[in-house]
Amino acid sequence: MLNNTIIRFTFIRCRFISSFLNRIQAYIAGFFHLFYPHICMHCGSEELDSATVLCQACEKNLPYTEFLSIEHNKIEKIFWGRVSIQEAGASLFFTKESIVQVLIFALKYKHQKKAGRLLGNIMGQDIINSQRFKNIDCMIPIPLSKNKERKRGYNQAMLLCQGIQEKLPHIPILPVLLKQKSSKSQTRQNRIERNHLRAQPFRLVDPTALANKNILIVDDVITTGATMEAAASYLGKEAQPRSISLVAAAYTI
Ligand SMILES: [Zn+2]
Repeated sequence: MLNNTIIRFTFIRCRFISSFLNRIQAYIAGFFHLFYPHICMHCGSEELDSATVLCQACEKNLPYTEFLSIEHNKIEKIFWGRVSIQEAGASLFFTKESIVQVLIFALKYKHQKKAGRLLGNIMGQDIINSQRFKNIDCMIPIPLSKNKERKRGYNQAMLLCQGIQEKLPHIPILPVLLKQKSSKSQTRQNRIERNHLRAQPFRLVDPTALANKNILIVDDVITTGATMEAAASYLGKEAQPRSISLVAAAYTI
């Protein structure tokens, strides 16, 4: 009898504490929502998963390129005659004043890591849906200079890789490509040093890590393809990979 009373009392107390904590949690969430409303970055809808920045309807209406599934697509043609690439693509079209521009801007300048996660997830799903990227062994994010990365707090290409990896957990990220260090400020460099940096902006931390691997270089936006070309041609010469493919979140029309 006494035991039953204790059990009932404990049960009521637990329910009371749990409902009290739930109410506190709801008050805190409501309070933060007043000042930091978690709404869709595009349409303002509040029906949003807290881990993302776009509602499902806006994500569905993004301007998808389908390039990853198309052989000899526009992006691959950019690199023809410039550097040897196995497959290339970008998931979305980038146009001025579009939602894709808002997402990329938020990722690069507004510290919105969730935008990177969303874009990376989209790229990962594109890779899964395509038959052309099946042999990828590892991902290489295009590096930022140490200075830029320190200021931003992260490298956006690394966030994209992590978003891809959520969809393809078996593909490791190997951040072995780094921006070449410049020891002095640009104004104090002599012309020879400046030309050297311009000609060779990258270095490798582990020259053997990519040997005989099918590598995928990852960046945020492809416009002229100059950065991707420089990275691919450097890695092709210095890292001896089996093949090089490229993927970006967006392609500037
Ligand atoms: Zn929306």
